[in-house]
Amino acid sequence: MADTIFDKIIRREIPADIVYEDDDVLAFRDLNPQAPVHVLFVPKQSIATLDGAVAADAELLGKLLLAAAAYARREGHADQGYRTVINCNEYGGQTVFHLHLHLLAGRQMHWPPG
Ligand code: AMP
Repeated sequence: MADTIFDKIIRREIPADIVYEDDDVLAFRDLNPQAPVHVLFVPKQSIATLDGAVAADAELLGKLLLAAAAYARREGHADQGYRTVINCNEYGGQTVFHLHLHLLAGRQMHWPPG
């Protein structure tokens, strides 16, 4: 598995604005935010892409989703709403090949996305 910038953040080798951590998941603010709130939720155990996920990853992926939802609720974004995004491979716009979930909140989202 290739080492990515997110692995370095998980190992605390480079700084990040970490907002949440548990045994399986780390969350930190995106360097290039696309909304007033833009947090990335990453599994500590690397899966490169959603396409590479297998049945054994089901619990970890569930934890990732639930961690984002709990964070959004705790931070007061749930009532107005928010968006979660997982980009996959080139056409999906994925640039970091360590699976991550974007949580975007604090403004009206639009559809279709770009
Ligand atoms: P994606 O395009 O879905 O792979 O998303 C990668 C995201 O990681 C982008 O939104 C980048 O702005 C963000 N990003 C890249 N490097 C860092 C970093 N060192 N700290 C925080 N966010 C980062």
